[in-house]
Amino acid sequence: MLTDALSGLPNREGFVETLETLIAEPSVDNERYAVMIVNLDRFNRVNACLGSLAGDELLITVARRIRGALRGGDVLARIGGDEFAIMLTLDQGRQDADHLAKRVLTTLSTPFRLSDFEIRVSCSIGVAFGGDPVDDAEDLVRHAQFATKRSKVSGEVEAYQPQAFDRARAEFGLETALRRAIDAQSLTLAYQPIVDLASGRIVAFEALARWRSDGGSDVGPGAFIPVAEESGLIVPLGRWALREAVATLAAWDARGGDRSVKMAVNVSAIQLQRDNVPQLVKQALEASGIAGHRLTLELTESALIADPDRIAQIMQALKALDVTLAMDDFGTGYSNLANLQKLPIDVLKMDRSFVTGMLADRDKIAITRAILSLAQALGMKTTAEGVETHELAQTLAALGCTYAQGYHFGHAVMADEAYALVDPRKV
Ligand code: C2E
Ligand code: CA
Ligand code: CA
Repeated sequence: MLTDALSGLPNREGFVETLETLIAEPSVDNERYAVMIVNLDRFNRVNACLGSLAGDELLITVARRIRGALRGGDVLARIGGDEFAIMLTLDQGRQDADHLAKRVLTTLSTPFRLSDFEIRVSCSIGVAFGGDPVDDAEDLVRHAQFATKRSKVSGEVEAYQPQAFDRARAEFGLETALRRAIDAQSLTLAYQPIVDLASGRIVAFEALARWRSDGGSDVGPGAFIPVAEESGLIVPLGRWALREAVATLAAWDARGGDRSVKMAVNVSAIQLQRDNVPQLVKQALEASGIAGHRLTLELTESALIADPDRIAQIMQALKALDVTLAMDDFGTGYSNLANLQKLPIDVLKMDRSFVTGMLADRDKIAITRAILSLAQALGMKTTAEGVETHELAQTLAALGCTYAQGYHFGHAVMADEAYALVDPRKV
């Protein structure tokens, strides 16, 4: 079978065979062709949220649109679930690949209509150019895929460069260092206040991981959480963060702290899949003597996608421990609102991207309004992230948002500094 049944396009095998034929063609100069991979971002979510029929429909439409962007001699194939490959000839040189990538991005940027949903699809694009005297079709495809991986991170069209291996090696170095840091306990948690908008009081802190590397500089979680997730180190890291955050709250209690203050901890989707999170939470609460209702777990939408039924069970088990569940970064994925309603979610945390610049953007205000009224209708509370100004806080309060977090109220600070903010003897 050299054809993909769904799209009618060549499959991976068929594509490699065609590519081999082209490479073997004596009349074709090997600088004159390239392989481009177009990989859809977050396609799994479409399947998970709208069902696989809708997913199939989307793939067929995507294939049709990409085909419309090609020139006569280019060959399109579907080489993986959400991965398309294009073999293109370079008549004008490498700029042909640039132009094609732009046309593909443009044609995919128009939203897709599926069932009753309008879906925006973004994709990552990687290119590998022929030119190596020993070009091998399989290698070219692999190199283009490697470039596509970099495109996922950079958000740009990426061409394969052998030096990219250096970066992979650097990341491997980070991984080793991170493993050591967890072992040596040189990771710390910083605590950022979460404020009740109506009263202005600090009601909780979100625990955010910080890593002071040997050189003394801070590495932000934006750099190491993705590495930790990819390498599986997120499991020990997440266990540590949970225990540490709850222990900090217990230490505050012991100092005579205000027992209405809660603690929020981030739990990665990967941890939720691989680890027994309810059991960990139970142990952490028991060990510290902290009541379940004082702990909030922040889960991301992506956690719901992989295995929605299992995640629903885990969430129920967590609710049985009286833990509060928050949906983090809400609005960044293709959330299925119907599904959300079935899950025991207490708080929606609106992603910073809606909140930032909201006052100057009617669309963002409309979206925020819609999210807030949806949450209200579902009986959920809401937290706005990234609130940096007083004006924004006031507007969000007027729109009915429950909580807010952001530099306007305070940055993430070390435990003692955080405690001082809620110390009953001072406030
Ligand atoms: P997040 O859960 O969305 O956390 C909020 C991030 O927004 C934090 O970045 C925080 O410092 C930043 N932030 C807060 N207020 C403002 C503001 O007013 N303006 C702006 N521009 N930014 C603000 P941070 O600490 O760099 O954390 C980044 C992400 O790393 C977190 O995003 C979270 O997804 C992840 N993360 C951090 N700690 C952990 C952890 O212990 N476990 C897991 N699984 N993930 C973690
Ligand atoms: Ca969070
Ligand atoms: Ca967030």
